[in-house]
Amino acid sequence: MALSGVKCKVSSCKHWKSGEQCDASAIEVNVDGGGSNARQSEQTNCRTFQMKN
Ligand code: SF4
Repeated sequence: MALSGVKCKVSSCKHWKSGEQCDASAIEVNVDGGGSNARQSEQTNCRTFQMKN
């Protein structure tokens, strides 16, 4: 079951499904380098990512 409203292009993640969908039950998004003050989207990342086997 895809997460509604989440569009993801990280096809190397084991949660990724065709159509740019994510089948994780939930995702966690963090700021690169820690903290909580990202200034642009490039400074954020999906912590739920797991490499495909
Ligand atoms: S867990 Fe994160 S990186 Fe993996 S498919 Fe879902 S949104 Fe993308």
